[in-house]
Amino acid sequence: MQEEVLTMSYEGLVQEPIDVKHISVSYQSKIALEDISLSIEPGKITGIIGPNGAGKSTFLKSVIGLIKTDSGSVSIAGESIDVIRKQIAYVEQRSAIDLTFPIKVEETVMLGTYPKLGLFRRPKKEDKQKVQESLEKVKMENFSKRQIGNLSGGQLQRVFIARALAQDADIIFLDEPFVGIDMVSEKLIVELLQELRDEGKTIVIVHHDLHKTKEYFDNLIILNKKLIASGPVSTTFTTSTIQKAYGETMGEIVIKGVND
Ligand code: ADP
Ligand code: MG
Repeated sequence: MQEEVLTMSYEGLVQEPIDVKHISVSYQSKIALEDISLSIEPGKITGIIGPNGAGKSTFLKSVIGLIKTDSGSVSIAGESIDVIRKQIAYVEQRSAIDLTFPIKVEETVMLGTYPKLGLFRRPKKEDKQKVQESLEKVKMENFSKRQIGNLSGGQLQRVFIARALAQDADIIFLDEPFVGIDMVSEKLIVELLQELRDEGKTIVIVHHDLHKTKEYFDNLIILNKKLIASGPVSTTFTTSTIQKAYGETMGEIVIKGVND
């Protein structure tokens, strides 16, 4: 009973900002992130942008606690982020996933129910129901028996989002979900993520290029090893911040999308 009460009180924390304070990360002795402090606003879509190798994936993983930081902390309303770990879903970069592993769409989505239910509990009727609902939400219900290796990039992303929904995650982190997918799928996924945002979920998306930045995101984190800017798109997406992150050579391409 006591445990349940504690869990309940932690659940409300997902409505609070995630506070990142002075995070630094290095691999061997090479610094990947240097003294990053910012906060991630709940109920919004936050984009993380920056050039290749800027530390975007590293940042995502350190916020979730998948990699060890050299220093700094990640907290939510003064509590360690660990207390809401089960409410966070992580959709990793597609290139990091072994698509030859023989697993069906419905099994992949079912994996989302395990954080809540425990690994050794057999799926029950309501879990199967949850999987079905989640697949319907991403319009993949007709693909449940397919092997994930046979899906297009866009379909695969939708399955991973369904897995996050089956997890009942309130916070969803996605690493480059639009890489290698067609514009129709991209639009569908963006609309879906916006719908989830409107239902109160917090969405964080790593995005390596700048197209659609203004349409897709409410807030932006611009990184290049160091934090260049964070906050609403309207104040952070400027020529100056983009040039700081990407260098001046991109000027022509970039300037079209920029506010000032
Ligand atoms: P991004 O996602 O912005 O492209 P990453 O976070 O993947 O950047 O990488 C940031 C830097 O850290 C890069 O220089 C990359 O080569 C390096 N790096 C990333 N992962 C590792 C690793 N596991 N071991 C060593 N270096 C790594
Ligand atoms: Mg990356």
